[in-house]
Amino acid sequence: MLVNLKQILKEAKAGNYAIGAFNTPNLEILQAVIAAAEETQSPLILNHAQIHEKIAPLDLIGPLMLKLAHESSAEICLHLDHGEDQEYISRAIKIGFTSVMFDGSKLPYQENLDQSKKIVEMAHTQNVSVEAELGRVLRPEGGGVDPAEEDLKAEDYYTDPQKAHDFCQATGIDALAISFGTAHGVYDIEPKLDFNRISLIRQETDIPLVMHGGSGLSDDDFLKAIAAGINKVNYFTYLSLAGGDAVKAMFKQKATLRFDEISECAQLAMQKHAREKMLLFKNNVAGH
Ligand SMILES: [Zn+2]
Repeated sequence: MLVNLKQILKEAKAGNYAIGAFNTPNLEILQAVIAAAEETQSPLILNHAQIHEKIAPLDLIGPLMLKLAHESSAEICLHLDHGEDQEYISRAIKIGFTSVMFDGSKLPYQENLDQSKKIVEMAHTQNVSVEAELGRVLRPEGGGVDPAEEDLKAEDYYTDPQKAHDFCQATGIDALAISFGTAHGVYDIEPKLDFNRISLIRQETDIPLVMHGGSGLSDDDFLKAIAAGINKVNYFTYLSLAGGDAVKAMFKQKATLRFDEISECAQLAMQKHAREKMLLFKNNVAGH
């Protein structure tokens, strides 16, 4: 069933667990995470990132995400990930997305605040939740290096707890993406995470906190981040890699494969990977 982000994150915050937000830019990954949510009876956030427009146009995949969310036994929120402009965000809302992220993290503080507030005013009239980002998670969603970030250390962009307090008060957002040492994409070196910063931001704000660049962390890191106050974990790269690794292993057994065999193999591997992460995020370590 289709749900609002605010509603499921409120429950996650009260229960001290996190909900996985998985990017689903193709049919296999979309079906994999929905099946995993149904198997583990977990709430699920389906992310469509604006940067994936080229491989999965919003107007095509959005209505499919909506249909599958309605038909599922799991509680599913449809969320626009890293929305960069009002036009694209409005398109997602029109399709039926119940939540949107406005990513103004590269803008100066005041501009990020003003634009986030504008999106909140527009979205809340339609009962759509809004996530905004303060501080910056390094590297763009979808991989690569942003040339503007080449000489910067992650610490330069960590979220300031006092600013987070002021930002949430002024904008009226429903969830806040924070920066404390994670990065998008594959980790070349082990990330250094500032868990204490999550706790400090938690004390200063009253809304659920979001971790981007989550995939690739150890189970222990996830549990520590969730215990410190993270309630939404954005997850994509390592889920997609799980599909790729399974296909690579299948090619070792058999040199010639049909594409439908490849896609089924990847889907099953991603479903298993998503299942494990959903149980972990719910702190159900025994089931992991
Ligand atoms: Zn992100």
